[in-house]
Formats: sequence, structure tokens, C-alpha cells
Amino acid sequence: MIYLDYQATTPLAPEAREAMLPWLGGPESAGFGNPHSAHRLGRLAAAAVELAREQVAGLLPSGGRVVFTGSATEAINLAIRGTRRSRGHAIAASAIEHAAVLDCASTLEGFHLLPVDREGLLDPEADLPAKLGLLAVMHVNNEIGTAQPVARLAERAHQQGALLLCDAVQGYGRLPLPDGPDLIAISAHKIYGPKGIGALWVRDGVELEPLIHGGGQEQGLRSGTLSPALCAGFGVAAELARNRMADDAAHIEALWDHACLLFADWILNGSREQRWHGNLNLRRDGLDVARLMSDAREVMFSAGSACASGSGRPSHVLRAIGLSDAEAKSSIRLGFGRYTARDELDRAAELINSAAAQQG
Ligand code: PLP
Repeated sequence: MIYLDYQATTPLAPEAREAMLPWLGGPESAGFGNPHSAHRLGRLAAAAVELAREQVAGLLPSGGRVVFTGSATEAINLAIRGTRRSRGHAIAASAIEHAAVLDCASTLEGFHLLPVDREGLLDPEADLPAKLGLLAVMHVNNEIGTAQPVARLAERAHQQGALLLCDAVQGYGRLPLPDGPDLIAISAHKIYGPKGIGALWVRDGVELEPLIHGGGQEQGLRSGTLSPALCAGFGVAAELARNRMADDAAHIEALWDHACLLFADWILNGSREQRWHGNLNLRRDGLDVARLMSDAREVMFSAGSACASGSGRPSHVLRAIGLSDAEAKSSIRLGFGRYTARDELDRAAELINSAAAQQG
């Protein structure tokens, strides 16, 4: 099996797994306490959560706090609904945001979509709606990998008195984060951490209302008992990503250069330069992607966004960059990362290219 679906999820780093194990202990261990209990076991668990919070914050700007959530989807919902209630203004988002942003924001009144160009990039000087309360712009797109001009758009949102929410799920831990966001959503399972935990970074002074009410955990913003195991895994994954950022990036660049040669006959979707190079979204006219995936089944890759797969929806991202339905349907996404070896790319290219060639 060759795994080339790093945008959907990443393998758990052995270091992150190791850090989780003490917090999955049974009755004889000291690792099962409720981090919200006042006794010694509780305090031990709370210390693990706070260490993880610091590790996660190590890759985020200073001047804010980290609120753990169950996923980035939840963090995004908290950001949009939490600020929206207190501000009651318009909300705008790029047309290529993840469904977590678009589906949440579109339930609210005064929602505007900002188009992207054929390269999959937002115009940093695009018209923004009047009475803007929140602008949502992702860092790196999960389908086509393009990186948006977040810093400039944050400046412009601030000039209008609005906040900027950045979905940094695909950029956090891989690239330095852009300056300017007031709210940043991240997810552990995209940085070699466990599934089931995300976080929202909230700039100091930004007021939020909770979505989930109850025991008042997470500074009153997200009630519910935290999992110290998930927090510890997230924390170590973040620390590892911080320490390895340069090495990981160099590894990705080498794989990208190699992959571009292996797939030279394909058309690249999205900007070549303004992009995270661990994402290769390619198309070939007339390709039957379902057949390709079956013929090259040794390779785990995606026909579009894994987040939307199963929903039957055509990719809103590929349509937003101006592809026809037929072009979008003949697109595949190959994603590679820290644990991808060059010879895996060779083998994957052999399988995918020969399966595609069989289609004529
Ligand atoms: N935003 C982006 C850009 C993503 O790629 C994903 C997941 O694929 C999410 C949000 C949702 O993250 P989670 O799985 O933690 O809810």
C-alpha cells in the first residue's frame, strides 16, 4: 500500500502515540484522571493538558489563547457562530473554503462569497461587503493546495473593524502562519497527531460566546471533559512539527520536484508557485477517475476533497477555479508528507500512469 492522501489525514507520529499512552491507563495507573478534578490524579491530567496547550501554542502567534475542541470543524463553527452572535454583521468567505466554513456561514444571514481566480487565489484587494463582521480566509486549500494572501486580507478586514478567521488546518505545522488573523482553526490529525481533537486560537480581546454549554471547561468556551491522551498527542505532534519544520519542508520540496517530473503529462490544478508543495492536484482530459482508482488500488489517493467525499457533491473548489464538471471529474489529488519515500512516488506514478494510459 502506498499512502498519498496526506490532506485527508496523516499517519500518527510514533512520538505522538508514545505521549498518549500514559493517559490511556487503567485502574492501576495514574493516567486516567479527569483533568477537571481537584485531586492529585486530576491535577496530573490537567498538567498534561496545559503542557499540550503550550506545545500547540508554540506554532501560533503570541497574544492569544488556545481553546481545545473536538475537531477543526468544531473550532470553525465556534469562531463563526461565537463571534457572529456578538457582532451581528455581514460575513464573507472565499469560495474555496472548506465545507466547515461554507456550510456553517451559509446558515447565517448576510453571507457573501468571494471568488478566486483560475489559479485558485483570492484577490487581496477584492471588494469586501459593507458592515463586515467576519472574513474567513483559509491559509492552504485542502483540495488544490493554494496559499491565500491572508495577511493583506486581515489588514483590510481590520480597516473595516472586522475580524479575520483563518482555517489553518493544512498550513499549521508545515509553513509559518500568516500575520493578522484574530481566530485560527487547526486540527491534530493533519500534523501527525490523533484524530478527534482540534483547537481554536483566539486573539486576546476577541469576545466569543460558547456553542456548547455545560461544565464551563476551556475558559467557558467549550464545555465537556477534555481527553488528556488526545491533548498530549496533539501537543507532541505540534512540538515535533515545530522542530522539524525545515527538514519536513525540504523533504516535501524534493518530493515535489520529483513528482512534477513523474506526472509531467498531467495538467496541474491551481497555482504552481503559491502553493503547498505536498499537494499535487492533477487532471487529464476524459479520465474516468473511479476506474483509475480501482485499477491503481494499491495507491491510496483521492478523487477530490476527502472531506466532501461520500456526499456526492461535485468539488466546489474545482468549480470555483473555472473547471467544467468534466474537468473536475477527471481530477485526482495526490498528497505526500513526512513519511513518504521517493520510491513510493515512483511506484505510484508507474501504477497511476499506466492505468491512465490504458484509458487511451
Ligand atoms: N479545514 C480544512 C482545510 C481541512 O482540510 C479539514 C479537514 O479535512 C477541516 C477544516 C476539518 O478538520 P477536522 O477533520 O479536524 O474537522
